[in-house]
Amino acid sequence: RFITFEGGEGVGKSTQIRLLEARLRDAGLDVVVTREPGGSQRAEAIRAYILGGGARELGPMAEALLFSAARIDHIDSLIRPALQAGKWVLCDRFADSTRAYQGANGKLGDEVIAALEKVTLAGVRPDLTLVLDMPPAIGLRRAAARREAGAPADRFESEGLGFHARLRKAFHQIANAEPERCVIVNADRTAPEVEADIFRIIDERLGD
Ligand code: C5P
Repeated sequence: RFITFEGGEGVGKSTQIRLLEARLRDAGLDVVVTREPGGSQRAEAIRAYILGGGARELGPMAEALLFSAARIDHIDSLIRPALQAGKWVLCDRFADSTRAYQGANGKLGDEVIAALEKVTLAGVRPDLTLVLDMPPAIGLRRAAARREAGAPADRFESEGLGFHARLRKAFHQIANAEPERCVIVNADRTAPEVEADIFRIIDERLGD
């Protein structure tokens, strides 16, 4: 099973992934937790380059191709082998983040994003995508608090609320266009409440 977590800044993806991982392990399942950009050694190197500021000089198309290169390596070296071995793969961000960040909010057209996605994924698609959703002002406050606690600054931190509102809308559009794959989860609640909701969704959709 392949489950991806998507959403804007500060919505609590990593917390929820950890909680779900523990629940699935308790149920005796073999779970792999990973993230994008990154997730494999080479893809993490590309992540460090892009998020470290390298992308500023590159331009949107070159940046998107680097994200794609990272994703191909991540799929080939980690995701596909794990799925073939019958494991559950939980991934923090995946192709929908490219659609939202580089597509809806970036400078690349839908056709370019769709074509890139097709060659990059090569048939590997999430069974379930959880879109963690909350008003951007709240998510940004949470991300700022996390930074004060020592987490690295986010590359879109300086963007205005308009950017984050467009991002949220993009995730809504993606989820509404593919309801068989995507579920929007209200993340503006306590972590245990969100966790319980996510576990219920997984039980309903993937429990057998
Ligand atoms: O989810 P996380 O906070 O680790 O994301 C890392 C950074 O990469 C964030 O700044 C996110 O906005 C950015 N990102 C991006 N394009 C993607 C995926 C993530 O710009 N396709």
